[in-house]
Amino acid sequence: MFVAALVVALAFTLLGKQAAPALGAVADGPARPAGPNVEIAALRPGERPPQFVLFSFDGSGSHEKWRRFLATADRVGAQFTGFLSGTYLLTNDNAEQYTGPGHAAGKSSIGFGGTPQDLAVLIRDLNTAYLRGHEIGSHYNGHFCDGADPSGNDWTTAQWSAEMDAFARLFTDHRALNGLAGLPRLIVPAAAIQGGRTPCLEGEPEVFFPAARAHGMTYDSSRPVTGLIWPQRLHGLWEFGMPVVPVAATGGKNIAMDYNFWVQLNDARDEPERAAEFAAAVLETYEQMYAAAYDGNRAPLVIGNHFNNWSGNAFNPAAEQFMAEVCDNPETVCTTYQNVIAWMEAQDPDVLAELVARPPSGS
Ligand SMILES: [Zn+2]
Repeated sequence: MFVAALVVALAFTLLGKQAAPALGAVADGPARPAGPNVEIAALRPGERPPQFVLFSFDGSGSHEKWRRFLATADRVGAQFTGFLSGTYLLTNDNAEQYTGPGHAAGKSSIGFGGTPQDLAVLIRDLNTAYLRGHEIGSHYNGHFCDGADPSGNDWTTAQWSAEMDAFARLFTDHRALNGLAGLPRLIVPAAAIQGGRTPCLEGEPEVFFPAARAHGMTYDSSRPVTGLIWPQRLHGLWEFGMPVVPVAATGGKNIAMDYNFWVQLNDARDEPERAAEFAAAVLETYEQMYAAAYDGNRAPLVIGNHFNNWSGNAFNPAAEQFMAEVCDNPETVCTTYQNVIAWMEAQDPDVLAELVARPPSGS
């Protein structure tokens, strides 16, 4: 028994993994999250980096989706990232507590958090995810994209900064802002928010990054990049680019993100009867990306998604199946942005420099 456990522990270490973290209890008392599911240590000479896979979900406001992805992640020892939309921390009745830069109070392109009961459920989901070692990041608040101007591409650094201040306030003051003292406590500290993805990938880097840096962000995952590359330093942050890759069954290339796949597959029309076909194309695209990185430069794979049911729920099942397929593969770790950053920063500087300079795979 002891020997078997030791062998298992050793096997995980050799693969760059640690055994699945114990689940923390969801309680109102002090709580400590589970640790990283990857060994934060320098590679030994000649050792290949693990194949990191970063599942991330923009919005992160669906109880049903949290439930499914948390369960799948538990089965395969994965950790992932939820990029929360801050407006989901206000009930519909309290929408006017948020004012997007350049917009009237109470406006949001994605709505608000529903009823007090809905909000309590969301807070419990965020707490559960955090305690299991998953990461909460920011998808900012009102989701103003081109057409709902001024959008993230129009905002100044000061306006982005105001949007980030609003996110922090929603995050820390949700009880007072909603006037609901009985809401569960969100145990995720504001300092745990280290990065995010901008709505519709908007925001000019030279405008957006100074605001992000001033708000203590260490990374961003919004900029399209050609093929699969290692994170790059950009304006003082780690940029985990959104890879543009060949999309299976289409003959075209696109950003590897659910909504962009949908545009590529049928101009984002609702065709639920084609859901299985779309899911198969997306899964095959993920598998091609994984093979290209695993056998190539080992760039961390960014698998960007929303919690959604588009076109008959064509997209989330592909991400879920891919998570179930690859996360317990040899030399593969499905983990959070912060864990990958910690791993990268634990490397010898020359080793890290060689990794980030590797040419793209899979483009
Ligand atoms: Zn979004």
